Amino acid sequence: MLIMAVNAGSSSLKWQIYDLPAQKQVAQGVIERLGTEAALFKVKFGDEQAINKQEPITSHEQAVILILTRLKELKVVDHLAEIRAVGHRVVSGGEQFTESTKITPKVIQQIDGLSELAPLHNHIEAYYMRVFAKLLPNAQQVAVFDTSFYSTLEPVNYLYPIDKRYYDDYQVRKYGAHGTSHRHVMQQAANMLHKKVQDVNLITLHLGSGASITAIANGQAIDTSMGFTPLAGVMMGTRSGDVDPSIIPYIMKKERITDVATMIQILNQKSGLLGVSGVSNDKRDVDEAAEQGNQRAKLAQKMFVNRIVKYVGSYLALLPKQADALVFTAGIGENDPQLRADVCVALSHLGVELDATKNNVRGKEMFISTADSPIKVLLIPTNEELMIAKDTYRLLD
Ligand code: ADP
Repeated sequence: MLIMAVNAGSSSLKWQIYDLPAQKQVAQGVIERLGTEAALFKVKFGDEQAINKQEPITSHEQAVILILTRLKELKVVDHLAEIRAVGHRVVSGGEQFTESTKITPKVIQQIDGLSELAPLHNHIEAYYMRVFAKLLPNAQQVAVFDTSFYSTLEPVNYLYPIDKRYYDDYQVRKYGAHGTSHRHVMQQAANMLHKKVQDVNLITLHLGSGASITAIANGQAIDTSMGFTPLAGVMMGTRSGDVDPSIIPYIMKKERITDVATMIQILNQKSGLLGVSGVSNDKRDVDEAAEQGNQRAKLAQKMFVNRIVKYVGSYLALLPKQADALVFTAGIGENDPQLRADVCVALSHLGVELDATKNNVRGKEMFISTADSPIKVLLIPTNEELMIAKDTYRLLD
């Protein structure tokens, strides 16, 4: 049965079609620079790049109409009714949505109502749900929330040590992010470790341009590095991760910044690897500059490792027993053997023994620790779209 997984952003729309329960990817595509006269429309069908074309796509509805039209033209489907369900990635489910949920008009309204928690995403995601409901009226739609994996956090971990009223009145708390990715690699890790999901104890490291680290005890998230928003936690491509909030008014005064939003934008978009290195937010560019002797790039590399090690160390302490494994995933986690080596060597006195030869690999699901390592190290490519499709299939009537 064909299921479409949709990952919508403000200027991009990524989608994949899976055949379930075989978990076979049938087709995938992306529209970049959506909303402009020069949008980039790409479709891969099987192993073939079927379309790679620049064309004007100025509205979200036009984008969906175009995708559905091309699916028929390319004979991915003969009839659109073959797409039995559409699963949508939703960035914030707030406290309301603790698991993936069938979409109804009321659910769309609730997701839209959470836009304050994810201003760049929820509103657009809700809009796409309405568009798909109109264009594929017979397909069941399902919302898969990035935050729901963290509904198992206890107040001791999700509350901030501030006046409790801010939580009671305004729901100020840790919500986390990347939950779908952490959940996917947890399930894969359980398979690899020959354990039931409810028995695994893991630290999962999603290290991409955004980065988050999650502590998982008995198959449930107990803590995660991102917070009220994805600005918190470890250092990232352009985001600072954790900083002392007092630097905000201090820098604003020194730089004569009058608007807090501008300051938050600096922490979101001009910090992290980019801010420290002064070179780029892309880890590969930072590595290249460091290789050529750029001292700021070298410092950025070291600080990135340092922040990851500190989080993993604290989560190893937080887990009720020894972790079964560390799991590396996402762009940097999957493709950067040196970063993995630096992190694991720093943690070697805690029982993490990396196998240097096995670690010299990219993007392949495998064990990269020594056979005797007390805590295993796994490399597991993330696949949020497959997780979305699997949840959607599970919820079908
Ligand atoms: P996102 O999906 O959040 O945009 P990704 O998971 O694609 O991000 O991760 C992007 C990061 O992964 C970038 O910093 C990029 O440099 C890094 N990356 C991708 N491929 C490689 C590679 N071959 N070696 C090192 N880093 C890589």
